[in-house]
Amino acid sequence: MLYQRKISKGDALSAKLGFQLQTTRYVLAGTQMLGVCGGMFLLWYQSVPLPTPAWGVGMLILSFIQSLHMSQALESQRHITAVGPVLRELLVSAAIGGFAWSATVIWMGEYLSDEVLYALVMIMVIITVATVAATAVVREFYLVWLCSSLIPVACWLAWTADARPFNLIFAAVLWGLAILMAVLSYGISRSFTQMVESGLEREAMAKDMAGFSETLRAKNTQLQEARKQLADLAKLDELTGLRNRRGADKAFDMEVSRAQRGGSSIAVIMIDVDHFKAYNDTYGHPAGDDVLKRIAGVLRSVTARAGELAIRMGGEEFLLLLPGANQADALVAGERIRTRIMSLEIEHSASPSGSIVTVSQGVVACIPSMTTEFKQLLEAADKALYSSKEGGRNTVTLSPFRP
Ligand code: GH3
Ligand code: MG
Ligand code: MG
Repeated sequence: MLYQRKISKGDALSAKLGFQLQTTRYVLAGTQMLGVCGGMFLLWYQSVPLPTPAWGVGMLILSFIQSLHMSQALESQRHITAVGPVLRELLVSAAIGGFAWSATVIWMGEYLSDEVLYALVMIMVIITVATVAATAVVREFYLVWLCSSLIPVACWLAWTADARPFNLIFAAVLWGLAILMAVLSYGISRSFTQMVESGLEREAMAKDMAGFSETLRAKNTQLQEARKQLADLAKLDELTGLRNRRGADKAFDMEVSRAQRGGSSIAVIMIDVDHFKAYNDTYGHPAGDDVLKRIAGVLRSVTARAGELAIRMGGEEFLLLLPGANQADALVAGERIRTRIMSLEIEHSASPSGSIVTVSQGVVACIPSMTTEFKQLLEAADKALYSSKEGGRNTVTLSPFRP
């Protein structure tokens, strides 16, 4: 289903009021001014014994005040904050403007010749027709104008039908025109309402969309964070919390390259728990897990320096990466691991080589040449570990590897 946003009647009305104020303040003042000029010319032409200039100035001042009032309402945004009062003021303004014209026609009527009177009525008709598009945004405004200008004049013409030959015809025309313009204003106002509502809907939807994309962006960041955490987790061994083989691969190559570039030493210690299968068989798998965790704790405790890394290679095999360590340093570290694990004094009654859990180690340390690869160090450490196993276990063997 398409996403749709409904606009409240109040919002639509205040937007229409904004339109109406914007157009009416100029259009009405402009047409009134032309109408007044036309009226003044007619009155001057007829040379009626009336204060014509005062009437003209009065009408112009009235439309100027109305225009000013509309501009102020618009600038102070009262059409948004006070919809009801602004609508009422607009209707009063339409009524005052309309009655000013109908009163003019009725008041001056008896002094004017037939032609001049009908010409004055035509001026009023022209103003009414010319302003419909701009002043019927809020339809009530235009209806009030019709009711206060054309209708009173039409009634008055009909009332004084005996006095002039074409009064009845003009009255009928004014009534017909008023009805026609009322219908037309209905169509114009409805079109404006639809236009304003769809504009507001678009605006509201654009705001919603901006909100949605902001939420999406936040979710995306969370997702990326979660993926990063997942990736980090995939590099860690679940049981011991040490880095696993996959998580250490990059570090292996990086440290070898660094040692090659800097001409520094690098050491690798391969560690394997002695007779661990027998331990599991005797004490059970969960107890075996516990042993692995405690051994991991020891390995972590001997890798305090930057770049040093303890890794669980798989099963009961571990590896220590010691950048910067030479053979003597690596042997010291291996010995420290051996004694610390022994001092844990984890009972292993099934071990053929003692009564507690011990580890065998293979150590390799060198300054790698430009062609040395990490897997060569691994193989050398593995061989040395094998020698430790062969030599009775619980020992540290140094590999004779030379790059
Ligand atoms: P050796 O002294 O020659 O190293 O003998 P070993 O028994 O330690 O070596 P072997 O390779 O025969 O057996 C390794 C055992 O480690 C077998 C397996 O059940 C156990 N093991 C591997 N991973 C785990 C684990 O995550 N938890 C536990 N509890 N045991 C494990
Ligand atoms: Mg093993
Ligand atoms: Mg083992």
